[in-house]
Amino acid sequence: MTARMRRGRSVPLPDRLRPRGAGPERYVILGAGCAGLSLCHYLLERGVDEPILILDRKETFTDDRTWCFWDVEETPFSGRATRRWDSWAVRAGEREIVHTSARYPYLCLTGADFYEDALEKISARGNVTVRLGESVETLEELDDGVLIGTPAGSYLAGNVFDGRGLPPDSPVLKEARREPAWISQQFLGLRLRASRPTFDPDTCTLMDFTVDQGRGLRFAYVLPFDEREALVENVYLSRTGAPPETHRAELSAYLRDRYGLAEGDYEAEGEEWGDIPMTSRRFPRKPGTRIRAIGTLGGETRPSTGYTFLRVQRYCRALAASVTGGGGDPERVHPRRYGLLDRVFLRLLREQPERCPGIYARMFAGTRPDALVRFLTERSSPSDEAGLIRALPKLPFLRLAAGESIDGVREIL
Ligand SMILES: Cc1cc2nc3c(=O)[nH]c(=O)nc-3n(C[C@H](O)[C@H](O)[C@H](O)COP(=O)(O)OP(=O)(O)OC[C@H]3O[C@@H](n4cnc5c(N)ncnc54)[C@H](O)[C@@H]3O)c2cc1C
Repeated sequence: MTARMRRGRSVPLPDRLRPRGAGPERYVILGAGCAGLSLCHYLLERGVDEPILILDRKETFTDDRTWCFWDVEETPFSGRATRRWDSWAVRAGEREIVHTSARYPYLCLTGADFYEDALEKISARGNVTVRLGESVETLEELDDGVLIGTPAGSYLAGNVFDGRGLPPDSPVLKEARREPAWISQQFLGLRLRASRPTFDPDTCTLMDFTVDQGRGLRFAYVLPFDEREALVENVYLSRTGAPPETHRAELSAYLRDRYGLAEGDYEAEGEEWGDIPMTSRRFPRKPGTRIRAIGTLGGETRPSTGYTFLRVQRYCRALAASVTGGGGDPERVHPRRYGLLDRVFLRLLREQPERCPGIYARMFAGTRPDALVRFLTERSSPSDEAGLIRALPKLPFLRLAAGESIDGVREIL
């Protein structure tokens, strides 16, 4: 049994990170989110002792999300994971497939724990300033740096790392949404406490497709923190998604049908909302000679799964090494060979959503857990990939792959 999770708290800014004065900055990071704080940590780890300024428009750090990722490698933040599962399930039709891997547990890191840990880490040296409530509106490249415009004034930076994410008002997101090849992973998660023991705390549910598919491809995602406490998400993989009130109604129907919980049988402790673009579109990585896009704005989301956290860690670590003279090319950090399979999966989600529950069930049933985790985290070997391909239905995938190749040729022409 785990200790009760402390969810929903705000994280204060440590005094050592509060603004002290203004001056030209060597490094400015836009966005104190997952990518911005991670990159700052990796820059400090590389020995950067010049001033680093982080600007974010939010006023406080709230417990706004829950990150999960497989423990395939060490990250600076994994030690703060509050929960780890060795088993995870996929449900479709009459089938329930449970995978177990003691080698690669599925870790859960709350937003509040990540922010607290990252802020503590980056405050250690005394050369980082975080300015909250600063909305960055313009970036202008000048001969001697980048001029950053906010309603309160401007900053001059030697190098800018833009980690402002893809909020609904992002021009990059608006442009991506216009593409036919785009779908979104839209979800509403409810953190709840049931009045009686309800959940199996040993197994999380990655995808439960046994829900009504009438509005588009949809599944439930369940992270059971103990027998009573869980995060239950209603997830759409589609172009349109659904309004929040539809998500709420569908969640309450799921809790009733799957766990026998009527509305009076649980207490809602918080909600989280996400709308993650799943696209093979290339996001501009270097929008200027001194500007680099990081995180979701730089295209870190894995197109076929929506997982982002591990990719952000890998890219930011490599970027910090490269800008501090440690060599390496951060653009090569994610293996290219996953591109075609990612595009084929995206095409399947877009063009044949009704087949997806059965195909996911088949993929989990026919692949060894460790091999599948390595594939999902871009660490698979050729034999892992051969096993995965063997588990998939040949004809539809060949057709989809053929369509991809033709489109790929069209793109080149
Ligand atoms: C609810 C939720 C759950 C998720 N769960 C998972 C998961 O389990 N596993 C996984 O791999 N991925 C997950 N993701 C996807 C991804 O990991 C997160 O979205 C991650 O936070 C992306 O990092 P980022 O730094 O790009 O953006 P963010 O972490 O969103 O940071 C962007 C920051 O920029 C700031 N900002 C925006 N505009 C401006 C502006 N104009 N000026 C100044 N500041 C600005 C924002 O306030 C924010 O702090 C989840 C996403 C969400 C939304």
